[in-house]
Amino acid sequence: MASKLSSKHLHNEDEAFAYVEARVWPNGPVCPHCGGVERISKMQGKSTRKGLYKCYQCRKPFTVRMGTIFESSKVPLHVWLQAIFLIAGSKKGISSNQLASILGLTVKTAWFLSHRIREAMREGDLAPFGQGGGAVEVGETYIGRKKGMPIRGAYHHKMAVLGLVDRETGKARLFHVDKASGANIQPIVLENLSREARLMTDENYMYRRIGREFAEHSAVHHYNKEYVRGDVTTNTVEGAFSIFKRGMRGVYQHCAEKHLHRYLAEFEFRYSHRLALGVDDTARADKILSGIVGKRLTYERAGAR
Ligand SMILES: [Zn+2]
Repeated sequence: MASKLSSKHLHNEDEAFAYVEARVWPNGPVCPHCGGVERISKMQGKSTRKGLYKCYQCRKPFTVRMGTIFESSKVPLHVWLQAIFLIAGSKKGISSNQLASILGLTVKTAWFLSHRIREAMREGDLAPFGQGGGAVEVGETYIGRKKGMPIRGAYHHKMAVLGLVDRETGKARLFHVDKASGANIQPIVLENLSREARLMTDENYMYRRIGREFAEHSAVHHYNKEYVRGDVTTNTVEGAFSIFKRGMRGVYQHCAEKHLHRYLAEFEFRYSHRLALGVDDTARADKILSGIVGKRLTYERAGAR
């Protein structure tokens, strides 16, 4: 078997453009200015920018990078694809320092690339978990430290994360919440779970009221050291939290609260497209590419999921 790193689109700029164009424009080029699909010509010539097209409806030039995470970046497209492949293929993620040294970029540029790639990993598919009466585990965890917060008790100074795992599909969604409270988690749980779901949580009081909204709500009593009762458990979501925390400890130390949602999106993507669910490295990189469009503008939106 050939090395996956020897793929031409990872080394040749023309191949890289062809690779991305085939994925962003499966039915041929689309003008990002006017949305036109007819009267579009590829610009040829030695001094012409790579992948340049001209739309004769609005008379404006464009490339496939426009309107994607690749826009307004001077980094060659094949290097972007290398970064995507590396990030998609690593189990725990790659730090900006590591990415910079492998790709020969400055740490600042590598940081910019990896945050944009994380944006592409943000899933557009928000179909509710637990459709058809499936079990959905919901739990909360605490990580890191909030800026300027004194260490007090077990978790008051930490950042709170709410996790949902659909046990049928094996997919996860993780949310940064200001504080794990009934008021904060209720809208998230209601928005992301089908009413016919079987909700599984621990005994925490904040889940009781939310539980009434679903076909079933069963809780294990962690305080009494009960972790499994029949098929009722939160072990799957706890397992997802521990993989996330291991990754955060090893790779992304000192994560600022304003960036936490991006790391959560990256973890969620990797978890929901893991090899055990039949997704290999190349398929995972392609999945990221399918999320590159329309993510540029949302990049600056602080706190957005
Ligand atoms: Zn146009």
